[in-house]
Amino acid sequence: MDVLTPVQRNRCMSAVRSSDTLPEVMLRRLLYSCSYRYRLHDRKLPGTPDLVFPGRRKVIFVHGCYWHRHSCKLGRQVPATNRGFWKAKLSENVRRDKKTMLALAQMGWRVLVVWECEIRSRLGGSVLDRTVAFLESD
Ligand SMILES: [Zn+2]
Repeated sequence: MDVLTPVQRNRCMSAVRSSDTLPEVMLRRLLYSCSYRYRLHDRKLPGTPDLVFPGRRKVIFVHGCYWHRHSCKLGRQVPATNRGFWKAKLSENVRRDKKTMLALAQMGWRVLVVWECEIRSRLGGSVLDRTVAFLESD
């Protein structure tokens, strides 16, 4: 689905140039320049979602691949030291994420997870498409 015109896409993408910015900030800039407005880190919601769109009842989490165990290369990396401790901690993160998603869904929120590697990769445009499609869907 192509939800953005080429002009819109260019305007949005031009807001994000530096790759040394935090992925979350990159996504925020991208969406802001697409005229989306959101609340940040709403502590009243389960999991304190990174971006909250109250009118649309949608939230976005920007997840670090390592900490949230994405299926990419970075997310499959095994801790170098203190393996037992870190493995337990990482599994706990995944468990908590699942609980959070469920709680939000039960409250009627739709949830999108955007991964750090998706934002950092050159495929930034597809993240934008995915995110806009999510925000514009009923
Ligand atoms: Zn990843």
